[in-house]
Amino acid sequence: MAKKLYVPGPVEVRPDVLAAMAKPMIGHRTKEYAGLHERVVSRLKTLLGTGERVFLSTSSAFGVMEGAVRNLVQKRCVNFANGAFARKWHDVTLRCGKEADLVAVDWGRPVTPDMVDKALSSGKYDAMTLIHNETSTGVMSPLAEIAAVMRRYPEVSFIVDTVSSMSAVPLDLASLGTDVCLAGVQKAFGLPPGLAVFAVSDKALEKAAKTPGRGYYFDFLEFAAMDEKHNTPSTPCLSQIFALDHQLDKMFAEGLENRYQRHLRMARATRQWVLERGFTLFPEPGYCSVTLTCARNDGRTDLELLKKLAAEKGYAIDNGYGKIKNETFRIAHMGDYTMEDMEELFHLLEGLLPQARK
Ligand SMILES: *Cc1c(COP(=O)(O)O)cnc(C)c1O
Repeated sequence: MAKKLYVPGPVEVRPDVLAAMAKPMIGHRTKEYAGLHERVVSRLKTLLGTGERVFLSTSSAFGVMEGAVRNLVQKRCVNFANGAFARKWHDVTLRCGKEADLVAVDWGRPVTPDMVDKALSSGKYDAMTLIHNETSTGVMSPLAEIAAVMRRYPEVSFIVDTVSSMSAVPLDLASLGTDVCLAGVQKAFGLPPGLAVFAVSDKALEKAAKTPGRGYYFDFLEFAAMDEKHNTPSTPCLSQIFALDHQLDKMFAEGLENRYQRHLRMARATRQWVLERGFTLFPEPGYCSVTLTCARNDGRTDLELLKKLAAEKGYAIDNGYGKIKNETFRIAHMGDYTMEDMEELFHLLEGLLPQARK
């Protein structure tokens, strides 16, 4: 039985988006594709507030996370990690044969501007990686404040994962000054997995040209060269791009500001629901994510049982990630979900919580 998804990725995909994927294939080296590509990329630039390059990658987010490191780390990278995805990025950096250090932050806490300043003032690094919204812990780090620090280190590539925040919160890349800002579309974009979008600064492209060992599939210069023709280096996942085109129509029809406000409303309502049921929020106060809520279970609920009961009713819910599995649970509120979908979940959980109480 298909379940309605409340897990933080992949998220629920609306039927009209799935239908957009069912279009007949087109050749990707055609005018028709170039038109589609240009239309999608130009709206992504508006969404991200950038006049620099935006590329489409047929991969999940980690492909571009690996690619960013391979293109931009020449000397040594610092990976800031306050959760599972960021820690894995450190591992990926090392596996790419790069010199790298991990700045480990307690789970539940944000990466702060001071931490970034302290690490970069050592002068050891020419690249840093940051996860804006740590999906494993529901923590959103203060990107604008960190960006202000990064302005003092123009020689350090500023590589940001906004996998679970892009399109749900305003990201003005021109003022943030990121060198790479990337996302997979199965989170806040509300699309099926398999496509990643990423913005690369001109400065980063110049640096990449001087970085050896970029490989082929994620070579930023290949993307840049094909971008001139509104195309991709290798065959793109056309069905997902059809769906993204459709989703961008919907985003701009809703209005970006309305979209951001809708995400904020769902986040506030979910945090309030969690607190009213006697749970506590996992993130340090002030750093709760706008796209998912991570709460402490405090041993009150048999989360495995809750998940099973929800599944029997046709819903997929989450019981925590990595080392905080079952100590916490996460509720996703991103993509095309509305307050109505959240009310539906709260109603479901209210029926199931008494049964799952320990
Ligand atoms: C989901 C997620 C990823 C991993 O994305 P894949 O699409 O599985 O490669 C990376 N970073 C964050 C913050 C995520 O939420």
